[in-house]
Amino acid sequence: MYISDINNVKNSKQVNDVRGWVDTIRHHGGLLFFELRDHDSKVQVVTDKPDEFDNIKNEYYVSVTGNLIKRQKENINSDEEYGDIEIELETLNVISQSKVLPFQIEDGIEVDEQIRLKHRYLDIRRNEMKNNILARSKTFRSIREAMNKIGIDEIDTPTLIKSTPEGAKDFIVPSRKSPGSFYALPQSPQMYKQLFMLSGLKNYYQIAKCYRDEDSRKDRQPEFTQLDIEIANGDPEIVQDIIEKTMKHLLKSVYSIKIKTPFKRISYKESLMLYGTDKPDLRISETIQDLTNIFKDTDISFIKNTINNKGSVRGFILDKLLTRSEIDNLDKTIKEEGSAGLGWFKVTDNEISGPLTKILKDNEIKEIKKYNNSTIIFQAGASVETASILDLIRREIYVPNETEQYKFIWVDEFPYFEFENGELQPSHHPFTSPKNTEEFNKNPENATALHYDLVLNGVELGSGSQRINDPNIQTSVLSKWGLTESEIEQRFGWFIEALSYGSPQHAGFAIGIDRLIAEMVNADSIRDVIPFPKTQSGLDPLTNAPARLSEEDLLEYSLQVDLDEDE
Ligand code: ASP
Repeated sequence: MYISDINNVKNSKQVNDVRGWVDTIRHHGGLLFFELRDHDSKVQVVTDKPDEFDNIKNEYYVSVTGNLIKRQKENINSDEEYGDIEIELETLNVISQSKVLPFQIEDGIEVDEQIRLKHRYLDIRRNEMKNNILARSKTFRSIREAMNKIGIDEIDTPTLIKSTPEGAKDFIVPSRKSPGSFYALPQSPQMYKQLFMLSGLKNYYQIAKCYRDEDSRKDRQPEFTQLDIEIANGDPEIVQDIIEKTMKHLLKSVYSIKIKTPFKRISYKESLMLYGTDKPDLRISETIQDLTNIFKDTDISFIKNTINNKGSVRGFILDKLLTRSEIDNLDKTIKEEGSAGLGWFKVTDNEISGPLTKILKDNEIKEIKKYNNSTIIFQAGASVETASILDLIRREIYVPNETEQYKFIWVDEFPYFEFENGELQPSHHPFTSPKNTEEFNKNPENATALHYDLVLNGVELGSGSQRINDPNIQTSVLSKWGLTESEIEQRFGWFIEALSYGSPQHAGFAIGIDRLIAEMVNADSIRDVIPFPKTQSGLDPLTNAPARLSEEDLLEYSLQVDLDEDE
């Protein structure tokens, strides 16, 4: 029986075959105690014949029979559900022994993550990890409830596919039957979910695995899980409304958190101006301020040059006096991120200090003195260039308001393309509809996309867009992206053809479920909410995947591997 079944026998004195792991063995005054821990509870077991049971060790899986006794008042542990009783041991049957553990099965251990991942099945025995994995299960269940309630159909899509571009490299799978040809694992089900809309399905959702062979970036996994949605006749408002309803249901049912909808909305440009980022953390209410006016006739040469070149001076007026070492640390942090340095003034009892104080003009002194007992922090330059540094400063100098825990915001009006390593890349994916096709065709580099992101507490939870449903526009977007006619035909000809038989308008979204759960359970990393994650370098220490193939296997797949000796 499980420990929780004790509730049904509490009146009878005997409990039989209670199964669990031996946890925390203690000897005390001729008595032997241990905690019996099963899948969801713990109960204390005690015997006054320690010698009869001296074979038991931590994490042995055992079956216990004995008398149920009430603990003396002073021995009651009110933190534990079964802290008022204990089992007086009669017989103990060892079902399975345990080797010496690589780490203790308890919360808050400080063990190298590599070792935890190598023994993930032991790691998940620990309460904090088990609860994370169960939060995952509850999240899936709640998503399905919300989808059923709204009336969205769960449909699956293949995972052996032809490449879908989402801005990363594909994982590829060789095919034994087609030597020299490869499937790709989906970076997302994007094209399939659109095909459903062209197939006459009204809507779609899937809790989908996505695979992206990215360079290791903090808190990314090569394999992750999305709630993927597509809606026929959908537009951004319809999709956002569905996502808001889903989040509301999920947070309430799994985490007992009430949130207000509709979520706030901000354009990409405004977000950069106010927060320096397209992932603003609204738990910090302070925004970037334009301080250019203070310096409009300045003699400070770098500021003068900035203003002459149509740049601006932006920053924060902090209503407290930072210490010199706080300023120096901030200066160091932003220099590491490419800033030339921190601009600052302090006004202490109407006295200005700071490296530029001596060259201030009278009117600047007057303006700055308005902020008595404050620290003025700034960056001068083009606003697109100073944005990311000001975002960093904002997150360094202000502490998020923890009482307002869940601050969602929609960010929209993204530029269609962005430059990545000198190349034009869609800021979402190339199936996103331009906001205005004429403008897009005239000036694609400055065009806006019908693309929207959902951000929670400074973390991008997901992205979506209205899709292109016209084969000509699709072709034109792919060609503005830089693909030649034959590349378009070869990679996307089949998809453009599918768009050519009367295709409804459609829009959709995908939420990163791992990231969402990590936010909700306050995990340090998404790896803590994924049962069997990979390390930052994409390896699985438990199974040692990925692994090399034998020469024989390689031959069967018509593959030849050419590695440097020392690789
Ligand atoms: N497929 C997109 C992604 O994975 C989401 C979407 O546009 O629906 O980011």
